[in-house]
Amino acid sequence: MQQKNILQTPVRYFKGVGPKRGEDLARLGIHTVEDILYYLPFRYEDRSSFTRIKDLKAGEPQMVQAQVFTAASRRTKSGLAIFQIAITDGTGFVHAVWFNQPYLKGYFRCGQKVVLYGRVDRYDRLQFVNPDYEILKEDGGLSINMGRIVPVYPSSGQLTQKYLRSLSYLAISKYARSLTERLPAYIIARQKLVDIRFAIQNIHFPTNFANLEKAYKRIVFEEFFILQLALAMKRKNLKSEQLGIRHIGGGELTDSFKRSLPFQLTDGQKKAMAEIERDMASGRPMNRLLEGDVGSGKTVVAAYALALTVGNGFQGVMMAPTEVLARQHFIGLSELLMPLGVNVGLLVGGMEAKAKNKVCSDIREGKADIVVGTHAVIQEAVEFRRLGLAVIDEQHKFGVMQRAILKDKGYNPHILLMTATPIPRTLALTVYGDLDISVIKELPKGRKPIVTYWVDEKSRDKVYGFIREELQKGRQAYVVCPLIKSSSQETRRKTQDAETVFEKLRDEIFSDYNVGLLHGKMTSKEKDKTMKDFKKGVIDVLVSTVVIEVGVDVPNATVMLVEGADYFGLAQLHQLRGRIGRGEHESYCILLADPKTEESAQRLKAIEGTLDGFEIAETDLHIRGPGEFFGTRQHGLPEIRFGNILKDADIMERARREAFAIVAADPKLQDERHRLIREALAFRFKGRTGFMNVA
Ligand code: ADP
Ligand code: MG
Repeated sequence: MQQKNILQTPVRYFKGVGPKRGEDLARLGIHTVEDILYYLPFRYEDRSSFTRIKDLKAGEPQMVQAQVFTAASRRTKSGLAIFQIAITDGTGFVHAVWFNQPYLKGYFRCGQKVVLYGRVDRYDRLQFVNPDYEILKEDGGLSINMGRIVPVYPSSGQLTQKYLRSLSYLAISKYARSLTERLPAYIIARQKLVDIRFAIQNIHFPTNFANLEKAYKRIVFEEFFILQLALAMKRKNLKSEQLGIRHIGGGELTDSFKRSLPFQLTDGQKKAMAEIERDMASGRPMNRLLEGDVGSGKTVVAAYALALTVGNGFQGVMMAPTEVLARQHFIGLSELLMPLGVNVGLLVGGMEAKAKNKVCSDIREGKADIVVGTHAVIQEAVEFRRLGLAVIDEQHKFGVMQRAILKDKGYNPHILLMTATPIPRTLALTVYGDLDISVIKELPKGRKPIVTYWVDEKSRDKVYGFIREELQKGRQAYVVCPLIKSSSQETRRKTQDAETVFEKLRDEIFSDYNVGLLHGKMTSKEKDKTMKDFKKGVIDVLVSTVVIEVGVDVPNATVMLVEGADYFGLAQLHQLRGRIGRGEHESYCILLADPKTEESAQRLKAIEGTLDGFEIAETDLHIRGPGEFFGTRQHGLPEIRFGNILKDADIMERARREAFAIVAADPKLQDERHRLIREALAFRFKGRTGFMNVA
């Protein structure tokens, strides 16, 4: 404990940390000595070797050691202070200039030995511009800023790199020896990791790049290891301690369900169903994530699981992120299950109070076997009689808390999460590390691949002509817009707002067809009617916002025109495109955009180039980074401070193997060798029950 206290020493007791700097440091999250030690550089500068002045090259950062020959300051007409020195090392002369740093005048004297580091540029001659500088001490010893690989820290306020370096140097020299090893010795040995003191020293002031690499690996391993331990313990807890409802077969109901399907199940669907069946029969609550690209047929798998729970005398609930999707699932599940005598109810926010109350009482009394709804189903008034299974569709749209509440509506109900945002394996291991995962890899047979084109404004008339051809063949079309309505300032984007586009298509372009409009600001009733009309084929062209992004299923729709496609994210475009290509006919997705940035162009090319959701997710992840990709932390992605889930995937895998092995052998980490890591774990996830209670 003694050692721990030392590392908890507040930084304000440090030499050179006054109230002002203390505040700046606090803003960076640095309060204690330990915080300094773990405040890691985000890059390094190689200042370990000197360049001779005669060998200097324009355009790159270099370091020279030389003697000051002349020093002079002046002001330009506009009042800019310029300080300039000329230095020599015997191989030549070079100038260095600094702008607006008049105090330098008193700093350099002729004859002094100095070290400069910075970019050299060529104007009428070669010169350093605003270089880092250091005057050599009498003994010639170099400081922490020169003559080595130098750390560069994220900074803010008045905190200079020099200051942060001296702070971390001081902290390391005084306190690094007090760092305790939290990883069990046998893991350090097995994973060939360097010890923590070496790691902290070398992550700040590496003696060479090989040691820096070792230090980085060690620190990232520990971070990932603690994360994976948390996941392993949670999973173990879910698997072995909680009793679940045992569902054995679904009897007549599941048999007739399978018989009544109008198509052959794909292998992926069959496998997922078998896995679900096994989970639900195990006597432990299921916690399974079903991953499958858009259109892979996840709904029928969920319907099967729901039939299984109903067949066992329990209720099931299916939650969807939007009202449009919930209504569609309601229709879909009703068609599949009502003929088999299952009672399906709908509960969405936009319903009238009377209808809502009726559904709620049906749920309470057990008259409703299955309820489909939006987050309305997690409201307090909703009480299930015997909840056996909760299905959450498009789960990435929900927060962790919403899932937790739904789960609490029953006694350890089975949970099935579904997502069409497939993610790379290492990320899945991190975000869903405590879940079992089923993946549907293939699309149902006979699907024709969607043809995607990215075109610009000039092709608009051609695009309309093409849509018309499809309409003439009896097909239907989506036209997706980034906005509902543009404000008057945004007339530039008029072409892209749903209301304007709708009017133009209805009155001019497709005036001989039925054009409909769908967006989030319409009432539930209007939305519902529009969707039904589109499904029935009464509406030929549906102009809409992203409300149709998820799940909507109208197989006869074969064209999608996306207006202002550069305003959408990659995952979103992929989801949108998933609305077509659902039937027997060839489908076309046309992205209309004149992107303004290279990144937008990259995204459009990526979408045009592949139909593979996994590939798209990976590209997206690389463009946006994991944090953005998942939206907020409440989506379950724990904060990662040091490592990079993508680049350090191999470390994640190794950390995971070790963590799961430990928890298998010592589920509560009671072994003395695991005491410190257990404490670190408790500390790390203190107050983070949201994360610890995923699903
Ligand atoms: P998603 O995985 O995107 O939720 P859906 O469950 O909405 O996909 O299924 C898309 C469409 O494919 C639906 O019209 C559904 O009826 C159909 N479908 C599902 N499974 C099969 C199958 N095995 N064979 C043919 N069509 C299928
Ligand atoms: Mg779906």
